[in-house]
Amino acid sequence: MRYLVVEPHPDDLPFFCGGTVAKLISEGHEVHTLVVTDGEQGTLNLSYDKDDKLAAVMRAEEQAACKTLGVKNIKFLGLKNHFLEPTHELREKIVRRVREIQPAAVFTIDPWNFDENPDHRAVGQVVLEACSFAHFHLFHPEHLEEGLSTAMVAKVILGKTPSPNSYVDISGFIDKKIEAILCYKSQIELMQMEGAARLKVLGKSSPIFDNPLDQAIPASVTQIAEEEGQKAGLPMAEAFHVRGLGILENIKDLIGGLSV
Ligand SMILES: [Zn+2]
Repeated sequence: MRYLVVEPHPDDLPFFCGGTVAKLISEGHEVHTLVVTDGEQGTLNLSYDKDDKLAAVMRAEEQAACKTLGVKNIKFLGLKNHFLEPTHELREKIVRRVREIQPAAVFTIDPWNFDENPDHRAVGQVVLEACSFAHFHLFHPEHLEEGLSTAMVAKVILGKTPSPNSYVDISGFIDKKIEAILCYKSQIELMQMEGAARLKVLGKSSPIFDNPLDQAIPASVTQIAEEEGQKAGLPMAEAFHVRGLGILENIKDLIGGLSV
């Protein structure tokens, strides 16, 4: 089967579905990704004095992480970080990529997850709309005139969700997930600087930030996967809300349920 991941930022994929992506690829499935922004403002390191410097670094980090996981193809849209809105223009770009890739299912971030990041909310919402309408030949017919075909997507798989209904056992793939996360040196540095600074304004500190954060990441990522797994009787898991599109959502119990 073919999957597309639509990520608001270059580092989203490994955190919310890296183990699942590695597992799907090991089973012979094909995974592509579309990266909507370059995450180019995500730093407190003043040596990044122009946002295009960080954009280049994050694109390289994304390429390294996707190579680790075996993702087949990465496309960068290069839209402005922290400024995404759920517009028709953004939806058109995602419909176009869905029609280019022809995935059976699309991963993205749950837009209803109490997330303060506008890019996460906008992309989640627009991906659901794009996947619901990409099969209509009268929807963005200019794509068909350009030679693309309509695309039938069966389900959208929402990560970072407050209401999971599907758990993937990633116990054999936790090392791949960690390896992919560790590719994002710029974002690990940000987590360290930001985490310590936020604690400081509360008058607190934590030994977590005394050493380079990448030393703590393997244990932390493993612990989170174990906690998710406990909810489903699995050793380690990633959790998702799988939504069938159209009538599939209504008849999912009749067809034996929908999973990733
Ligand atoms: Zn993100």
